[in-house]
Amino acid sequence: MLTVHLIPAFDDNYIFAFPLYGGAWAVVDPGDAAPVINHFQRTGRKPSYIFLTHHHNDHIGGAEELRKKFGCKIIGHADDAARLPALDIAVNDGDKIDIDGTKVNVIRTDGHTIGHICYYLPDQRSIFVGDTLFVMGCGRLFEGSAEQMYASLQKLKALPDDISIYCAHEYTVANATFAHDYLPDNEEIKNGLYFFNQLRADNIPTVPTSLRAEKLSNPFLLADSAESFAAARKAKDQF
Ligand code: ZN
Ligand code: FE
Repeated sequence: MLTVHLIPAFDDNYIFAFPLYGGAWAVVDPGDAAPVINHFQRTGRKPSYIFLTHHHNDHIGGAEELRKKFGCKIIGHADDAARLPALDIAVNDGDKIDIDGTKVNVIRTDGHTIGHICYYLPDQRSIFVGDTLFVMGCGRLFEGSAEQMYASLQKLKALPDDISIYCAHEYTVANATFAHDYLPDNEEIKNGLYFFNQLRADNIPTVPTSLRAEKLSNPFLLADSAESFAAARKAKDQF
């Protein structure tokens, strides 16, 4: 169990802030510094670590400014360092690191980009997945192939069912609308579409989700081969 603050940014991004075991705070994917600064000023705290999942500007754009203002240490993928702000802590696939007393496992998930990573906190039963997985959706294939993304999703699928999944965008209603069209007989999707529409009507976030829910309702996790994943991804791109 982890307390995570959702900091909305741009039109539909979520930046996440959460406490580490030692009491320091971490931020995930700060595409914009201003809302993060406002958030921490409001709570009277400061961020000490920044986790970056991939190089897109809506995930890294505010990192340098936050480092300057708060002296944060930036954590990111060693293999993608050329496209990220200078890394204070460079990590690789499979690394199990300890950040201020919190265990963090690094899982490489090529597909949306080559070099995308997710941060899994096994003791907190939580994972930050950037733009790899969304509620009833997955990231677009900007750099990787369908085979790569399918393999990445299998890695996530192998994690415990009860983990909370923190996705970096509020794309849920659009994803659920597609999912219902693509898999019209899936009751979980039908219920989700109704429920999520209600949440969004009141501006309530649909993030986090759980792996259990996604395994039942996410067309991209339900795909049982790279081919059926590719077909679903193509259908979504054209929807
Ligand atoms: Zn992205
Ligand atoms: Fe993004």
